[in-house]
Amino acid sequence: MSGTYKFKWRAKHSAPVIGDSLYLWGGDELDLPEVHDSPQKRKLTSTVETFSFSSARWSSHLTRGTPPLGVIGYSCTTFRSNIYYYAGWCGHDQCYHNSLTVLNTLTMSWTQLHPNDESRMKKINGGMLSLEFDGTDYLLMVGGSGPTLPAVKHPQFQYDQIESRGVFTNEQLLYNLSNGQFTVPSVSGQCCPPTSGFTINKINKNKGIIVFGGGVTNDEITFNNIVYIFTVAHNTI
Ligand SMILES: [Zn+2]
Repeated sequence: MSGTYKFKWRAKHSAPVIGDSLYLWGGDELDLPEVHDSPQKRKLTSTVETFSFSSARWSSHLTRGTPPLGVIGYSCTTFRSNIYYYAGWCGHDQCYHNSLTVLNTLTMSWTQLHPNDESRMKKINGGMLSLEFDGTDYLLMVGGSGPTLPAVKHPQFQYDQIESRGVFTNEQLLYNLSNGQFTVPSVSGQCCPPTSGFTINKINKNKGIIVFGGGVTNDEITFNNIVYIFTVAHNTI
């Protein structure tokens, strides 16, 4: 870590790597205003810190466009020179999101790919990967937790409501990066349980691994060490 670079307290963020650089954005910060949107909040969330592995230096970048409002506990993954951010908590009240936004790291500009969708669950602490199958590139969103049940519950997934802790789900969505359409895949085999705060990693282009350690519902929140491996093909996981 550079000796002169000043870091602020930060939590519930991600730091994806593309090429030679690590990109640090969002999360809970001490000076994050507890409001939906304001010039001060926008100023804070329009900054991305990057770390260059070759020069071992941190630097701060002001982004262009509109950063997403789900700044805390969002899901994040990379594909080529893009970083995708999905869902997250706004930082005030029960304001959760499920919008999808991309940061182009070549231009350091934001583009919203999909606005908040009232029919789908708004959540935090889910997982996201970029995958390829049938010659098309997709994002896969898995699990997470949120304050309320979604308007539309997909029967292949579970939505467990725990009093005072909200709703935990194992819901999975595919987003087609070519046509910008969401699909809800079908599931075969043993599906992971509703969970929040796990890790998810890619094994190869259409295969991934979920390692729990996150909160799992079984009428109450417990923690486990189950590992699930999944393969995505033809809209089936
Ligand atoms: Zn808000």
